[in-house]
Amino acid sequence: MSPKSLAPATPTSLDHLRAKIRGAGMRCTAARLLVMQFLVEANGPKTHAEVSEALVVKGFDRATMYRNLIELTECGLVTRVELGDHVWRFELKTPESDGTNHPHFVCVDCGEVMCLSGVKVSVAPSAGHKPPKRFEVTSVLLKGRCGACK
Ligand SMILES: [Zn+2]
Ligand SMILES: [Zn+2]
Repeated sequence: MSPKSLAPATPTSLDHLRAKIRGAGMRCTAARLLVMQFLVEANGPKTHAEVSEALVVKGFDRATMYRNLIELTECGLVTRVELGDHVWRFELKTPESDGTNHPHFVCVDCGEVMCLSGVKVSVAPSAGHKPPKRFEVTSVLLKGRCGACK
């Protein structure tokens, strides 16, 4: 039994990522492909530090990783989320995260961040109550304890 994260990516998924990068009008460099692959397998938003830590062993420095994260964000393949700690986290843009941001769950003990894809949270005042000002929800953050810390 080998852990899923160590399993080699199938050629199809790599081809799929290459097509996505080219489809966004970018050259498919090794660094971009690695960043995209890491985010696919990450299963949640990751900080620049986490991306660097994982990919520095493949021979890329922190500055290169940062530049690629920003470029992928600018071309719309990756989105940035801020979860209340003033740290940008990067995650792959998925059909669910297009347009409306999906909620995120943060474990207050270990800091694990999970995407709650497919979960829709609507915020509206109950009947008869007007909100003090017009507002628009741009992100929803839930805090609690993950399964490992419970
Ligand atoms: Zn936890
Ligand atoms: Zn997410």
